[in-house]
Amino acid sequence: MSFDYDLFVIGGGSGGVRAARVAAGDTGAKVALAEEDRYGGTCVIRGCVPKKLMVFASEYADMVEDAKSYGWSIAPGRFDWTAFRGKLEAELDRLEGIYRNLLKNAGVESFDQRARLVDPHTVELADGSRKTARHILLATGGRPVKPDMPGAELGITSNDIFHLPELPKSILIVGGGYIASEFAGILNGLGVAVTQFYRGAQILRGFDNEARGLVSEEMRQRGIDLHLGTNILEMARDGDGIRVKATNGTERLFDQVMFATGRAPNADDMGLEALGVERGRKGEVVVDEYSQTAVPSIHAIGDVTDRVNLTPVAIREGMAFVETVFKGNPTPVDHELIPTAIFTQPEMGTVGLSEEDAAEQEPIEVYSTSFKPMQQSFAGRADRVLMKLVVSKATRKVLGCHIVAPGAGEMIQLAGVAVKMGATKEDFDRTVAVHPTMSEEIVTMKAPVRSA
Ligand SMILES: Cc1cc2nc3c(=O)[nH]c(=O)nc-3n(C[C@H](O)[C@H](O)[C@H](O)COP(=O)(O)OP(=O)(O)OC[C@H]3O[C@@H](n4cnc5c(N)ncnc54)[C@H](O)[C@@H]3O)c2cc1C
Repeated sequence: MSFDYDLFVIGGGSGGVRAARVAAGDTGAKVALAEEDRYGGTCVIRGCVPKKLMVFASEYADMVEDAKSYGWSIAPGRFDWTAFRGKLEAELDRLEGIYRNLLKNAGVESFDQRARLVDPHTVELADGSRKTARHILLATGGRPVKPDMPGAELGITSNDIFHLPELPKSILIVGGGYIASEFAGILNGLGVAVTQFYRGAQILRGFDNEARGLVSEEMRQRGIDLHLGTNILEMARDGDGIRVKATNGTERLFDQVMFATGRAPNADDMGLEALGVERGRKGEVVVDEYSQTAVPSIHAIGDVTDRVNLTPVAIREGMAFVETVFKGNPTPVDHELIPTAIFTQPEMGTVGLSEEDAAEQEPIEVYSTSFKPMQQSFAGRADRVLMKLVVSKATRKVLGCHIVAPGAGEMIQLAGVAVKMGATKEDFDRTVAVHPTMSEEIVTMKAPVRSA
């Protein structure tokens, strides 16, 4: 049977672009890709990249303050959102251009349209044209969802935050995940009065309790009005603002409300069910360890499969797909011990098991230290950082490493190599400290603070 293409990729985000260009560039496969919005996808256009640039922007206010403590005569200026947003948009245009060129240079044919499936080898584009392919790869990512409540349409999501015509004076952020908590820090740093509601007992559910406890304490200390165990009861337009009644009995007016209450996979209205592609409880596309769906010619990678929703993971899944299907080298995706950073202020870096999860699994020792770092302490700040190792009593292996500190994302990338290699606590101990740094504490913790 002959096809128009060897591979048709639906979705030009992190995973889709990588899979398409490696399949075409490395194996000479005839590849097409459809993207309904902007190339680069969530990470480049409305996720990691613009978010991190906003984190950088938001950190300058503190830096100016601290510089004075270091002897600089310097006065805080005014943050110009319009100027920043213009530069941000230009940068995203530049990056989108790079993604388009990567595809073009690899020989991938691009269609700037929505695509759906008609049969196991046929894709239908929005203009009604149909294309056949030996393999189809779903890389359609996910989208933010607002809660089902009266007035929810008044709120914005992380997709909208980069396009605001002006920064609000006050904002209520609803949610306790990493996106909610990161934007609470960003907007607080940019001078917005931030209130955060989270219905659970502590933000950053699933991460190490001690680490997320410190992040939440520090966020409050920096001025974020964080309310745990709290949700919106009702919201309604009131003049230029939004009046919010909360489950804690308060009623307040905010300029904006942002929901960061969850994301859903983009797998609806794509013809999947009719073909027998299985979907899970959240609507995600169910795949095996090789990213193959229940229909052999259809694979899926990235957020649409809701495995570990991070850019480097989507990219790896894309590479493993090409290795398996186009290079004849079956490669399962390794989802173990993925280091990751939460760009809250302070930042958190983490790899492996939390103390709580590790203790459920086996007897452990916990090494942990919390202290005031030199740079901030000299500037008169009360900031604290945390360095923590969770160690198996039986094997001495480091099961989890958790860092809350400025630059924790950079630190955990490197600590992640050691943990992934199976380093023991003694391997950490015999590594000489780099002095004076914050991270030297990770190799100088002598006695466990507790066992469990
Ligand atoms: C605010 C925010 C911050 C984030 N920060 C980080 C971070 O710091 N680090 C990190 O690792 N990850 C981060 N992420 C997660 C990361 O962005 C995603 O894990 C990653 O983008 C997933 O890549 P993907 O290829 O699966 O999908 P996406 O990048 O979402 O790409 C999917 C693409 O498919 C397109 N599409 C969907 N349906 C169709 C269709 N039917 N036809 C044609 N095109 C279609 C979409 O327009 C989109 O461009 C963040 C996400 C958000 C929202």
